[in-house]
Amino acid sequence: MKIGIDLGGSHIAIGLVDENGKIIEKVEKNIKLNDNLISEIEPFIIENIMQFKLLKPIEMIGIAIPGTVSNNKIVKAVNLGINDYNLASRLKEILNIDVKLKNDAKCAALAEKKYGELNQYQDSIFLSIGTGVGGAVIFNGKLLEARNVPGFEFSHIVIQKNGTLCNCGKRGCFETYASMKRLKEKISKEFNLNTIEGEKIKKFILQNENNPTLKYIINNYIQDLAIGISNIINIFEPEAICLGGSFAYFEDIFIEPLKKALIEGDLLFNKRCDIIIKLAKFKNDAGIIGATLI
Ligand SMILES: [Zn+2]
Repeated sequence: MKIGIDLGGSHIAIGLVDENGKIIEKVEKNIKLNDNLISEIEPFIIENIMQFKLLKPIEMIGIAIPGTVSNNKIVKAVNLGINDYNLASRLKEILNIDVKLKNDAKCAALAEKKYGELNQYQDSIFLSIGTGVGGAVIFNGKLLEARNVPGFEFSHIVIQKNGTLCNCGKRGCFETYASMKRLKEKISKEFNLNTIEGEKIKKFILQNENNPTLKYIINNYIQDLAIGISNIINIFEPEAICLGGSFAYFEDIFIEPLKKALIEGDLLFNKRCDIIIKLAKFKNDAGIIGATLI
């Protein structure tokens, strides 16, 4: 048995995963960003793994991190406010089990490649669109990674000069236009909804389809998303693209307009008459399952 942990921007989930990638047990906790986030996360992880250890022997612990991981250390997780932290060695010291860390989108891509929607493709792109935007490339059946720093920071490719300020410190990053969090915040603010809860925002969109301001916001969102994705397509020419994160819950609203913007817009270098866009099979469990495949 392996442990997969998904450390997200708003919650942490720990799963006991069998050799077929199936989650046997799972515990979750919502987290709020604060300066003592680590002191909140670590005891939760340790306590629960101690419990899991009583059930089954644990081979390894994999942790999906929403940020940059290098040499098994967290270099930068801008949406969590964590920098230069050696979570793996801290946990190994206490639990005496090998701990491996990897970027969460890369973990999710590994899960989709091995057990999910990308299984039949050799060249594919995975994008997780949620609090931020994470990405990974599978090329010739393998996850691409650079040697020193991990790279593939699709969320921080600039799509607008002097654009919106990003959590990374740059301006105009893809993430500041394409993240679901930013879209939900924009809609909530514009219509005084006092919530950024996905279900409520989705309901509001469906009930106000013909509102011109809402149409404008959503159309802009789709255009920005298409620009970012087209840049990635033009570089890697994938057979398929898999989209995960909270975006997946809005599939019926966004997928067709996105496809249309990619195919009919003047964005792709090599024109396509169809684009295979898959929705992540594992939704919120992708990080947990993928973390056991590191
Ligand atoms: Zn950025």
